[in-house]
Amino acid sequence: MTPVYLDNNATTRTDPDVVAAMLPYFTEQFGNASSMHAFGAEVGGALKRARQQLQALLGAEYDHEIVYTSGGTEADNAAILSALETQIGRDEIITSAVEHPAILSLVAHLEKTRGVKVHVIGVDARGRLDLDAYRAALGPKTAIVSIMWANNETGTIFPVEQLARLAHEAGALFHTDAVQAVGKIPLNLAESEIDMLSLSGHKLHGPKGIGALYVRKGVRFRPLVRGGHQERGRRAGTENAPAIVGLGKAAELALAHMADEQTRVAGLRDRLEKGLLQRIGNSFVTGDADHRLPNTSNVAFEYIEGEAILLLMNKEGIAASSGSACTSGSLEPSHVLRAMNVPYTAAHGAIRFSFSRENSEVDVDRVLEAMPPIIARLRDMSPFWRERDTSAAFNPTYA
Ligand SMILES: *Cc1c(COP(=O)(O)O)cnc(C)c1O
Repeated sequence: MTPVYLDNNATTRTDPDVVAAMLPYFTEQFGNASSMHAFGAEVGGALKRARQQLQALLGAEYDHEIVYTSGGTEADNAAILSALETQIGRDEIITSAVEHPAILSLVAHLEKTRGVKVHVIGVDARGRLDLDAYRAALGPKTAIVSIMWANNETGTIFPVEQLARLAHEAGALFHTDAVQAVGKIPLNLAESEIDMLSLSGHKLHGPKGIGALYVRKGVRFRPLVRGGHQERGRRAGTENAPAIVGLGKAAELALAHMADEQTRVAGLRDRLEKGLLQRIGNSFVTGDADHRLPNTSNVAFEYIEGEAILLLMNKEGIAASSGSACTSGSLEPSHVLRAMNVPYTAAHGAIRFSFSRENSEVDVDRVLEAMPPIIARLRDMSPFWRERDTSAAFNPTYA
């Protein structure tokens, strides 16, 4: 039984071409890019090429707008902490209720320990940002706005250009966690007002432990990691040359595949959703159907537990994920679905399917065959299913 991997928003397989591009930098090309000899110069040249590959994927105009980091999490942390230092007299942060923990746990910590005021903007039932609340929160004290480009659980895409313009009208910086957007949808930062953007290698078939923070030319920046002069003094520490080369190659491949893959992968996703909703009652798709990543589908199966579904899927060789996390014995559904007011009975049974260019129709067929008996079996055992209200024609409108 060949495994079916539909958890690409958690991580992707490193592309074999990426691995091949990286290998020489573990062996012959082992130099330190900062060294004044040939060993260093060769690696220095490779880092420069990687920068250009990434720049092309982002549509970034200038050299040196990219600061390599250890991943998306570090890039997110660096952006927010820098803004608090450079935005003199401003000590408020605006973010959304559906951000990744890399943002939410950082801002909660800053609120608790530094007295920073944090505005967490809510979303509607489709996961769309409350624009009125956003406008109301912006003001002369706003240091930075951090709103993700696309949500990792539902795929919902946010109007980041519009949000950036509004932030600038209030004199605030605008950062976006674009970890899920980069490599999946076209980006053109040269034409945008976005000041800072985070990305991560392992979400686009690159290696783990490498990412980048884009910092627009002219935006003041204070480093998170201090030490040597690497990255023009913006991120100290000897460059992770093999990983940077891998990220560059991953960016090149993502750009080359993008036009075809966007529509192909969206086709797989739509086929999966249609098939699941046809075969399984009391199920629905969450997220903003009109503004969604092509690769992400979040389907809620009512009256059962996501963990149990995943376990039985795993037995069939199918990997996906649920938003819920088991904390101290009590199962809390995903903060994203809760922010969207998805009822608990459905949020608990939400499964995220996330595709990549490595998936095919065979994978979709396998899932469509495996899911109906899994859901039926779990509902048979579920007291919530037996006691459900069948009188009301409950017709959720979360898609
Ligand atoms: C995966 C992810 C991150 C974290 O990136 P790492 O490179 O794993 O640190 C941050 N934000 C979003 C939206 C993600 O999906």
